[in-house]
Amino acid sequence: MKNVLRFGLGSAILAGSTFLAMPQTAEGFSTLGPGENLNLGQRDFRHFNEFTGAANNNTVIHPNWPQYTGADLAMWKAGAEWGSRIHGDGSGDSSQGFVGSGEADFSFFWEGAANGIGGTNDNIISSISGSAGGVLAYAETPINNGWRIRFYRTAWSWQDGPGTVSSGIDIQGVAAHEIGHALGLGHSGVGGSTMFASISGTGQGNRSIQNDDIAGVQFIYGARSANMPSITSITGSMVPGGTITITGTGFSTSTNRIWLQNDLVDGGNNGGAHVTIPDIASTGGGTSISMTLPASGWEGGALHVKRTTGNGGELLSESHPFDGDGGGAGGGNDTINFTVSDTTPNTGQTITFSADNCPPLQTYTCVWANSDNSPFFATFNGTVGSGTTDSLGNMNFNRTVPNAGAGRTFYMEVQVLGEDSNTVQVSVN
Ligand SMILES: [Zn+2]
Repeated sequence: MKNVLRFGLGSAILAGSTFLAMPQTAEGFSTLGPGENLNLGQRDFRHFNEFTGAANNNTVIHPNWPQYTGADLAMWKAGAEWGSRIHGDGSGDSSQGFVGSGEADFSFFWEGAANGIGGTNDNIISSISGSAGGVLAYAETPINNGWRIRFYRTAWSWQDGPGTVSSGIDIQGVAAHEIGHALGLGHSGVGGSTMFASISGTGQGNRSIQNDDIAGVQFIYGARSANMPSITSITGSMVPGGTITITGTGFSTSTNRIWLQNDLVDGGNNGGAHVTIPDIASTGGGTSISMTLPASGWEGGALHVKRTTGNGGELLSESHPFDGDGGGAGGGNDTINFTVSDTTPNTGQTITFSADNCPPLQTYTCVWANSDNSPFFATFNGTVGSGTTDSLGNMNFNRTVPNAGAGRTFYMEVQVLGEDSNTVQVSVN
């Protein structure tokens, strides 16, 4: 099944205040099919970022949405708007009061960057060249075992915001609509709803889901359970081996699971799997968790707590910002030792990327993982360099930091066959 979102030329749909006065009825939404929903194994979503120019030029990192900018950030916020509770303090989108309006037993898990479009079940948002009449984007379903979303990248003047979008088409608004299909929603007959079948104007109004959309997600997943754990803050040392304290409500007494983003960037299903830290106890009547972060193999962005007693979607907390740095050596899936000759280089400086303990005589790919997918090293698909490892399992290559890298922070890693390296943060002066 393919659900398309069209640009409603001249139809004035969503425009003006007329629709705000219309009754928002629960009858407006439709669902893709009975029993179509995403279980706890399908909460991940990622973005393969090939947007350029105005579609990917926001470089401002917002503390409520750490480590992501550009089109990635627009996608993340679009998914988080459907979440069970507000994300962090809800801020970061000046066009709506807060982000996180679904109030259902459902929250997405943002897994960050992908380096390919993936299959139709890999839960990756990506873009495609060409056009299809007035179609802006489409979602491929059915949804039980995953989905895929494609934007017509070259057919429209996409804008990544993050503030008011006054021209072109708003990525975040369109993403919110397509992600609604990923959740199992069909189109709504209620004007002003995010799930209405067409937009006019920039589509920015679609960022904020409306009563009919909320009724739809609650119909599929159930209204938010009082048992759902909630995170109010995360403090402590957010580095490998550091100790953090998660404060909130509704945690299990023991055997909570902490979900972190993994550090694997791929275009397949593996990159969507979260890092699970199992068997974590709470104190204070389920209001506080103290835990040690693993030595490696994870990244910052968002964190969830999954309690161990309950049913389905009520087990998993809402997403909460987690500005951690998961670099480090050894353990996890970081079997390759990766170094960068200068992690705080100047523009115009040549830096060397090196790794050892790689599988010998195999193709390596050096990618930026996580963070800012701006036009760095003049590529947009996440690849900084590639080649073949030598007979001893080593690799290295040089790149000159372009002027476009000024002031930006990147997280780099190397991938060889099914293995990947530790993550290295590079902050350009
Ligand atoms: Zn649609």
